[in-house]
Amino acid sequence: MAGAIQLSHQVATGIFAIPVPIPYPFKYVNCYLLMPGPGSSDGPVLVDCALDTAEARAGLEAALREHGLGFGDLERLIVTHHHPDHYGLAGLIEAQGPTVWMLDVELERGHVFWTEPERMNQMGQALFHQHGVTDEYLADLGQEMTKTRSRVHPAQNPQTFRDGETLRLAGIPYRVVWTPGHADGHAMLLREADGVLLAGDQILERISPNIGIWAYSYPNPLKHYFESLEKTTALGASLALPGHYRPILDVAGRAAELKAHHHERLGYLLDLLKPTPQTCWQVSLELFPGNLNLAQRRFAWSETLAHLEYLVAEGRIKRLEQDGIVHYSR
Ligand SMILES: [Zn+2]
Repeated sequence: MAGAIQLSHQVATGIFAIPVPIPYPFKYVNCYLLMPGPGSSDGPVLVDCALDTAEARAGLEAALREHGLGFGDLERLIVTHHHPDHYGLAGLIEAQGPTVWMLDVELERGHVFWTEPERMNQMGQALFHQHGVTDEYLADLGQEMTKTRSRVHPAQNPQTFRDGETLRLAGIPYRVVWTPGHADGHAMLLREADGVLLAGDQILERISPNIGIWAYSYPNPLKHYFESLEKTTALGASLALPGHYRPILDVAGRAAELKAHHHERLGYLLDLLKPTPQTCWQVSLELFPGNLNLAQRRFAWSETLAHLEYLVAEGRIKRLEQDGIVHYSR
């Protein structure tokens, strides 16, 4: 129809980007529709699915409709990682027929965040407390989590793939590439025939993806992320299709920038640390000055913790625990 707004656009042969509105600073998450070529007996596949808000669901449904599809026509939904903006609608889509797939690591270490809320809340509170976050900064946490959980429908019968496995998606082989860092079981998919990389949140164009420690994540995610950046570079991908913002043409260049960014932040953190012990919370207020809302403050804390624990593991700074509270010093 002339003049109609196009809800999806082709970004590589057979791959359509669907920017879906989300209530987060990114504003959009990119879902990708993989369409089988003519004569293929395979069905269409969706990669990532936004979270359940009326706007997101309507946006995703409208984009699929442009291709003559509903959720029930998809063969599979693949999720790159368990974060709400990539995984929220999974259970609703699954209920209409498609199978939901994720990396085996993410099933054990990410999907559980949604299926075991009480255990996760307890672990989260304990970690915040251990690192000096006071109750006033957690005041909205219960409400915030209730809202987020209401927008996430975990898959009831999720299927898993493994690192290095080749999946046939919409008739074409894709290699699974495990890239822990942003999430423990974060997976990318490489179409080896032409080097197109479905990159999830491993590399993003305008911002550095959050690399943080949460109660249920690996103890040194920044170390994993550095390794994952090396792995990403080594793929020699021609084009990365990320979870937010625009496609990335210089994949190796962007990976190098993100590595440099974290090393710069590590250097800044080292300069800032004092010989007298401080909690991660105190350090995060200095490392991320300015007006952040409570949720942003917690992300800043979580990223500071990842940087501190990286430096501890490298033997560059000291960590000591007193009366259940962890402190860091030069
Ligand atoms: Zn994301």
